[in-house]
Order: sequence, then structure tokens, then C-alpha cells
Amino acid sequence: SKAKKLAKTALHSIDKHAVIGAGIMGGGIAYQGAVKGITTVMKDISQTALELGLSEAATILKKGMSKGKVDADKMASTLNNIVPTLDMQAISDVDLVIEAVVESPEVKSSVLAELEESVSSETIITSNTSTISINHLAKALKSPQRFCGMHFFNPVHRMPLVEIIRGKETNESTVAAVVAATLKMGKTPIVVKDCPGFLVNRVLFPYFAGFSRLVLDGADFVSVDKVMEKNFGWPMGPAYLLDVVGLDTADHAAGVMSAGIPERMQKIEHDPVKLLFEANRLGQKNAKGFYNYS
Ligand code: NAD
Repeated sequence: SKAKKLAKTALHSIDKHAVIGAGIMGGGIAYQGAVKGITTVMKDISQTALELGLSEAATILKKGMSKGKVDADKMASTLNNIVPTLDMQAISDVDLVIEAVVESPEVKSSVLAELEESVSSETIITSNTSTISINHLAKALKSPQRFCGMHFFNPVHRMPLVEIIRGKETNESTVAAVVAATLKMGKTPIVVKDCPGFLVNRVLFPYFAGFSRLVLDGADFVSVDKVMEKNFGWPMGPAYLLDVVGLDTADHAAGVMSAGIPERMQKIEHDPVKLLFEANRLGQKNAKGFYNYS
């Protein structure tokens, strides 16, 4: 209800989105807006990526159809709401941009600077970064007051939370507009400060560290997963969750958090997460992590 009150203070309504980057996250974010009736321009630099982004949306819809939750009209209208493009000019009339390109400060800074040239002065600009400082990315923009983080979780269509990260220069009307847009997408917004790990990863990574230590102490990860899932009642245990997140993503995020808040992140010698990553066991994305998939 606090979010709804804040959303009501938004100065302008957000009716058209652009998502920059049509990867796992960009495709999911485009689907989520489109299914709620929001026209979403999906921009990438590669035609193959655009096709993957669209097929991601189509797969989610087909699953919904097989469960009887989506009909043919809904499928067609949702896919119609996604406008794939390779041309940055196609985003000129959007109200909200969600940047979801690769997790590199350099690439993101140059994409943000480029896209700011293509939108109006009213357009809200956000980044879906999971580890890069919003204050750092804000430096790429001429008008950082209209910029904040908008951190979705994977898979976007199933994860309710969106972390909205307020930068030093983000103004209140930007936060209000992004809260409103998040609600319109059917998601739950939470406004957080810019710090390494934001809120969720600040909770999650100490949990992963506790799990790694337990394994190093001799616990069997399959048993830990079983206990946490079957008996403790969580949707999945830590090893399976790490496979879903990706061992590369987890290793990278842990590195960024260790650099940013070293006093909170103790180094673990022979961390199984790092060892698996170094052995190219990346989790579900390459069908081998803690578990084997195929
Ligand atoms: P991905 O590699 O699947 O997709 C990245 C896409 O960006 C690719 O399609 C690539 O072609 C495109 N791209 C690269 N440079 C571009 C440019 N200059 N202009 C337009 N498109 C460009 O990556 P992802 O997993 O979807 O992650 C994207 C962002 O979302 C990252 O910042 C990541 O940290 C964040 N994120 C990821 C997850 C996750 O679990 N995968 C969760 C939350 C947030």
C-alpha cells in the first residue's frame, strides 16, 4: 500500500517501454510488460538475439496455453505488443527504458549515453544491473536525476520482486514513476539504496557462504538441498538455487560484493561455488553444475 501511495504521486503515466538487450532478462522483461498490455520496443545489436528474446516470450505463452491459462487471442496480442528492432531511433517515443545488456560497466555506460540521445527529456531511464553501482552508471548520463536501478529477478515472469535502486541524484518523481510502472507490470516494487548486493543479494550471499562452509565441513549437498526443500519448506535448496542462478553469475556477484563490502564478505578457501565455476560447471545454463541436467 505504501508503494501504491507512492505510485499515485507519479507525474506522468508510463504507457510504452523499451528494453535494451534481448537476452534472458531483456526477453523476460519485454514479455512481462507485453502480457500486461504495454507496448514494448525490444532493442538488441543482433538479429539472432532478438529472435531468441521473442521465442522466450512465445515459450512462456505456449506453456500458459498448455495449462489453459492463456488463449490464442492473448498469445497473439502479447506477441504483438513486443516490437523487435536493431534501430535505436525506434525507442524515441517511449516513457520508460529498461537497460538489460551484458553486465559490463563499460558496455552499459556507453549504451546508456547512446540511448539518452534517442529519447525525450521526460523519458525515465533504468538499468537492470545486478551488481554495478547505480551511482557509477549515472555518470554516463547528462540527466542522472531521471535514472535509477530496476532490478528484476530470473525468471522474470515468475519472480514477483523488483528492486528499485535510488541513486544519489535520482529524483522522487523518477522513483514514483518506476514504482508505478512496476505495479503496472504486476510486480512488487521495493525501493532500496545503492550498495553492493542491494537487498536480496545481501541476504542471499551470506546464505550461500554458510552452505559452502557446510559442504567444506563434510556435508553432502544433496542432503542439504533435501532438508531445506522437503523439510524446511523452501521452494528449493541452496545447491539447486545456485545452479538456477548460474555459478558464473554467483561467482561474479560474490566478487563485486567482496570488493565493495569486504568487511561483510569473508573469503572462503576452496569455495565449491568457485571450484565448480573454474571447472566450467556453470549450472543449468550449460547443463552441469552441482547437478547434471540433460
Ligand atoms: P544475456 O547475455 O542473456 O543478454 C544480454 C543481451 O544484451 C544479449 O542479447 C546481447 O546481444 C545484448 N547486447 C549486448 N550489447 C548490446 C548493446 N550495445 N545494445 C543492445 N544489446 C546489447 O544477459 P542477461 O542474463 O539477460 O543479463 C542482462 C542484465 O541483467 C545484466 O546486467 C545482468 O546482470 C542482469 N541480471 C541478470 C539476471 C540473471 O539471472 N540472468 C538476473 C537479474 C539481473
